[in-house]
Amino acid sequence: MTAEATLRWAYDTFARVAIVASFQAESSVIIDIASKIRADLRVLTLDTGRLPRETHEMLDRVRDRYRIEVEVVKPDAAEVDQMVAAHGGHLFYRAVEMRRLCCDVRKSRPLARVLSGYDAWVTGLRREQAATRANTQVVAPDPDHNGITKIAPLASWSKAEVWDYIRRHELPYHSLYDHGYTSIGCAPCTRPTAAGEDERAGRWWWEQNEVKECGLHWSGSARG
Ligand code: SF4
Repeated sequence: MTAEATLRWAYDTFARVAIVASFQAESSVIIDIASKIRADLRVLTLDTGRLPRETHEMLDRVRDRYRIEVEVVKPDAAEVDQMVAAHGGHLFYRAVEMRRLCCDVRKSRPLARVLSGYDAWVTGLRREQAATRANTQVVAPDPDHNGITKIAPLASWSKAEVWDYIRRHELPYHSLYDHGYTSIGCAPCTRPTAAGEDERAGRWWWEQNEVKECGLHWSGSARG
């Protein structure tokens, strides 16, 4: 199925479909395609509290262009306070386990809470982004979120296809791509990449030989 057909099927099949947007390039494509199918899109984004200013600016541009509401999902303030009190505000630099804890508190738990109100969620995962994503299925039950359906309409797309779509349709895109970034997450955990580096090499760049995933799409199994 094409990405459009996949999304059309999703909206025909499920009553409650959430597009979970990080406002990276894939989000631009998915929101654009979905906006041509449905006027009442449900778009969610995770505001970890550590996002770069440019991500907030991108959110505003998307909201304005498509005249949609974007639900900003935040971590539990008490959980963040407790974590920071115990381990400090920059705990992620200290150990992989600390980084995973921060991603869990600021990303995974809030996502799980909000997805409990949906039947399906749409993500911008692509197989060629990372080895951990190589087995991404376009449609699959998501065991990490009560078995609701996880939909990756761009699973088979290449990076070139994503950017070709963005340019052809003159879509807004995250401004940090113009500053050497090839994958964009939280500000303290993302840097630009150099020529020849993996697309996700700028994420948690200080970690050696660790999986470049935060837990939203990978829980240590081989399912990608
Ligand atoms: S990417 Fe960094 S700041 Fe963001 S939730 Fe994960 S560890 Fe915390």
